[in-house]
Amino acid sequence: MLVKLVNHTPDPERAVAVAARMCYSSLPPLQITDKLDDYQIVALIRELVRRGHFSPLEHASFTFIITGSRAMSHQFVRHRIASFSQRSQRYVKESGFSYITPPSIQVNAVAEQIFARCMNELQKTYNELLQLGVPAEDARYVLPNACETSFVCTMNARSLHNFFRLRQCQRAQWEIRRVANLMLREVRKVAPVLFAQAGPPCVVDGVCPEGDKSCGFINRLRVDRSAGGSVD
Ligand SMILES: Cc1cc2nc3c(=O)[nH]c(=O)nc-3n(C[C@H](O)[C@H](O)[C@H](O)COP(=O)(O)OP(=O)(O)OC[C@H]3O[C@@H](n4cnc5c(N)ncnc54)[C@H](O)[C@@H]3O)c2cc1C
Repeated sequence: MLVKLVNHTPDPERAVAVAARMCYSSLPPLQITDKLDDYQIVALIRELVRRGHFSPLEHASFTFIITGSRAMSHQFVRHRIASFSQRSQRYVKESGFSYITPPSIQVNAVAEQIFARCMNELQKTYNELLQLGVPAEDARYVLPNACETSFVCTMNARSLHNFFRLRQCQRAQWEIRRVANLMLREVRKVAPVLFAQAGPPCVVDGVCPEGDKSCGFINRLRVDRSAGGSVD
């Protein structure tokens, strides 16, 4: 798995703070940037996030290169407020495709063997179809969800907050959750204040909206806190 932040708005926190200040300041627009010091930027962003005034966060964008399974990328591209460029299986042949093995299969030697056998069989079938003159865009119909893919993705800070909320939750699948965890780690390096309060609802709001589907983390946290401890 690869998750790398490859580009972002220069000084993303200043960009967001300037946009927020524009809403309320009577200063000439070009003076707003000069008048904002680092302390004010931090205070402004904290206040925006606390109030849920998220539209200024749309002015900071972050571009990632991500590699993982097609199963994960299929879930990822459901996030419509993002831009994607994904390696094509129509134009790039998968003659020696890599694949992702889920941890639940990795821990079981027999399951891993069955899984690997199936992948090899699919590879063989795919290559045979190509040799028969079937175009790659049709031969790919036999390729599995496990097939590795790479894509470039650009999201603004507001959309990322929504993404982390949904995909860092224990209810999300392990692979996209790992991707989300790594993405948050990456953006916190360049915009720590902007993403200080990012994550699943149990962490950010202290409540879980999942009802009977909840993983129970929030209840364990409450019980533990009332007993004076802390949940690791
Ligand atoms: C645990 C989990 C399980 C899931 N299971 C399924 C499943 O079984 N089947 C399935 O199909 N999907 C499933 N999904 C995908 C889910 O329904 C969303 O499509 C996906 O998480 C993208 O979220 P989003 O719409 O908030 O993101 P984005 O598309 O990035 O949208 C961001 C926000 O913009 C607004 N928005 C975007 N487009 C519109 C619009 N057209 N109209 C109004 N507001 C809009 C909404 O407020 C939205 O939250 C699952 C997601 C999770 C996290």
